[in-house]
Amino acid sequence: MVVPFKHEPLTDFSREENRQAFLRALKKVEAELGREYDLVIGGKRIRTEEKIVSVNPANKNEVIGRVSKANRELAEQAMQAALEKFNEWRKFKPEARADILFKAAAIVRRRKHEFSALMVKEAGKSWREADADTAEAIDFMEYYGRQMLRIKDGFEVESRPGESNRFGYIPLGVGVVISPWNFPFAIMCGTTVAALVTGNTVLLKPASATPVVAAKFVEVLEEAGLPAGVLNFIPGSGAEVGDYLVDHPKTRFISFTGSKEVGVRIYERAAKVHPGQIWLKRVIAEMGGKDTIIVDKDADLELAAQSIVTSAFGFSGQKCSACSRVVALKEVYDQVLDRVVELTKELKVGDPADYGNFTGPVIDQAAFDKIMKYIEIGKKEGRLMTGGEGDSSKGFFIQPTVFADLDPKAVIMQEEIFGPVVAFCKAEDFDHALEIANNTEYGLTGAVISNNRENLEKAREEFHVGNLYFNRGCTGAIVGYQPFGGFNMSGTDSKAGGPDYLLLHMQAKTVSEMY
Ligand code: GLU
Repeated sequence: MVVPFKHEPLTDFSREENRQAFLRALKKVEAELGREYDLVIGGKRIRTEEKIVSVNPANKNEVIGRVSKANRELAEQAMQAALEKFNEWRKFKPEARADILFKAAAIVRRRKHEFSALMVKEAGKSWREADADTAEAIDFMEYYGRQMLRIKDGFEVESRPGESNRFGYIPLGVGVVISPWNFPFAIMCGTTVAALVTGNTVLLKPASATPVVAAKFVEVLEEAGLPAGVLNFIPGSGAEVGDYLVDHPKTRFISFTGSKEVGVRIYERAAKVHPGQIWLKRVIAEMGGKDTIIVDKDADLELAAQSIVTSAFGFSGQKCSACSRVVALKEVYDQVLDRVVELTKELKVGDPADYGNFTGPVIDQAAFDKIMKYIEIGKKEGRLMTGGEGDSSKGFFIQPTVFADLDPKAVIMQEEIFGPVVAFCKAEDFDHALEIANNTEYGLTGAVISNNRENLEKAREEFHVGNLYFNRGCTGAIVGYQPFGGFNMSGTDSKAGGPDYLLLHMQAKTVSEMY
């Protein structure tokens, strides 16, 4: 028996010894900067001429690593390796597959700060955000390993006298995992191991901004005993490798996390049946959000302001769960706004390697330009209260930005910005607040800060988001505690870290025998 799942605790950085340990990890990571990382296909390491150069978003001149880049031919080789291995891996005992995850979790736990320090450098995460990312990766392995043990024998169905019915789940086949840069470890790891532990073989194409942390994780899985060919590591461009594999007739499913635009493109392409294809591909997609915190007139306003600031500006708002809209009732609007502005002005932005900084840069030049463009739109649509400035001379830094007095239909109230920008909008009453909260094409997270039970109950029914939080912020879902995924254009509502997530990677088979 394995012990029950319990989420990985976060590191207490108020303790000197923990801060020292983290500084040592940063030194270790710095000593390895610029290393080369290979593709892994069928267990073999392949080095290509062309590279993805991963840089530190806080310091563009610092190269984190040079990662070999797959092309179509290599993607095809990886597909062949994964197809061949599938026949073996699907019969590998579920208990043994789960054990590989548990061992990998143990290895990562031992090297926890090293992984987090790498994300400080490669993704620009603050210590706390990086530590939470690593903890979540560990959680995914521990949780999905246990879930596999639960579902491995199938579910109960009835049998009539003289009949034996069995119902269980079998793997799908080769899955393509396309993972994001904003949770470069947690989501990359979670989506990969969910597919593996259920008996599928995988082609992993990590985000081009953060391939090094993925390369390190592939090494961990090898060390944990994952047989060669089960996981194939093929960083590359979306247009070349991504499209090729999404279209491939032998691809059985695609697990994607990223923007709405790319998600919709994948969904559409995957729907087309290609010559030689004998199934309908499955798509698991986690896309964007335009997430709202509602502040009721009867509410703890300090809690509201703190929750807004953490949810809006943690990791510079680069979470699909981030709060990008506040809808406050007119009676408390000014008070909440003033306090949020005050707290926001206190936030320190700078190199995330420095523990004192609350948040670091945004991921790259394209993100910087896009966010600054939205800030310009915001200046026309609303009242700039604080922030609004960016500096991309050394790294991609943008000041946490608050806009007030937005129309519910304003561009910055509707489109996902994926940066440190939050817009305030005034509501006449609670029904009006709910109406505004539901007025986007997304439906990922939302929160209500209220002491009014009736209003909370109304929100429970009417606030149409996959993850709804009461009297807390709207980011930071924990594996096994708050299964995560959204409605509408936020994706397929595949609940990562939830009890039904693994089944999305499997298909059900009924066997009925007459005695
Ligand atoms: N699961 C994360 C959270 O609850 C967000 C994931 C994402 O941004 O993709 O904050």
